[in-house]
Amino acid sequence: DIVDFNRFFNSIIDRFEMAKSKNVEFIRLLPSVSYYVEIDTDKITQVIDNIISNALKYSPDGGNIRFGMKANDGILTVMISDDGMGIPKDNVDRIFDRFYRVDRARARSMGGTGLGLAISREMIVAHGGKIWAESEEGVGTTIFFTLPYEEDEAGEWD
Ligand code: ATP
Ligand code: MG
Repeated sequence: DIVDFNRFFNSIIDRFEMAKSKNVEFIRLLPSVSYYVEIDTDKITQVIDNIISNALKYSPDGGNIRFGMKANDGILTVMISDDGMGIPKDNVDRIFDRFYRVDRARARSMGGTGLGLAISREMIVAHGGKIWAESEEGVGTTIFFTLPYEEDEAGEWD
């Protein structure tokens, strides 16, 4: 499907914002211009769902989750960041490996299988994009991913 990424992203964020049981604030820093992406919406929904559920899972009560997006040269970069417990430096790249969980104690108390980000990476790569994380222990985590967008159609249908 070809979708307006901003609309698509906002509707996923809305769904989480309505359902959340934690006291976490959602902050949207999204442009008002439309960027059209050609994606498998079910698969990219799964990617974003996993990133937001991780951010919620590891956010403290009263924390913030920020949603950002940048467009440059036909590449859309999407950012989802939390101010949760973070990930130790040496482990940051491993969170995209199958079954990898940062530590056993965390894994036990939080549930999950450790497959979410591995599947997300496969799906983003299949769409011609990249996914990575930046994190600092005790400060927070930002997950970035990219998707190609159709430069010609950006903003023209509003
Ligand atoms: P699943 O998604 O399969 O239910 P999961 O959430 O544990 O399980 P992933 O989504 O692949 O698995 O994440 C892998 C690991 O990376 C997590 O177990 C957690 O240790 C760490 N992690 C992921 N996102 C964050 C985050 N926002 N803050 C801190 N740690 C994170
Ligand atoms: Mg997960």
